[in-house]
Amino acid sequence: MLKKYLIPDRIFKDIYEITPEFLTSQGVRALVLDIDNTLVTYDDPEPTPPVLEWFRAMNAAGVSISFVSNNEHERVERFNRDLGFYAHGKSAKPFGKYIRRAMAHMGSDESSTALIGDQLLTDIAAGKKAGLRLSLLVPPIKDKTTLFFRSKRKLELPYIAKYYKLHPEEERIWIY
Ligand SMILES: [Mg+2]
Repeated sequence: MLKKYLIPDRIFKDIYEITPEFLTSQGVRALVLDIDNTLVTYDDPEPTPPVLEWFRAMNAAGVSISFVSNNEHERVERFNRDLGFYAHGKSAKPFGKYIRRAMAHMGSDESSTALIGDQLLTDIAAGKKAGLRLSLLVPPIKDKTTLFFRSKRKLELPYIAKYYKLHPEEERIWIY
């Protein structure tokens, strides 16, 4: 994976720091969202009330929402059940196929779409490769502490360090 695909455009503390005002000021009117550890933990089958409120605020500002997840179809469908947004499981990020489908569904294009996710090697790489306007990283809400996840996270560290080198003014919120 090329390095330029692994450095996020911005890091935010959580999704709630990403406001409709910020997105619309950047020309963004559509979101491609990761679900697990970005919006909710793996243990939450459905959106929590604060997440639902965040969706409502986005939609009210004219920002469309879609879910592009690498998790199982059943998980994604249940999460989206009462929302009816574009949603796809087993999306094979960093590949961009379902990001492009989400954009087609939302009537947006690369210049008006942002991705939000918690992983560099899948989410951010997918957004950058697809040429999206913004690829935004949030720290995982509650990381799985398996060896597999820990070693994946270790691979991210040099790119997080590079990001903070490029943005020396930013408070360091990446927690590992
Ligand atoms: Mg995730």
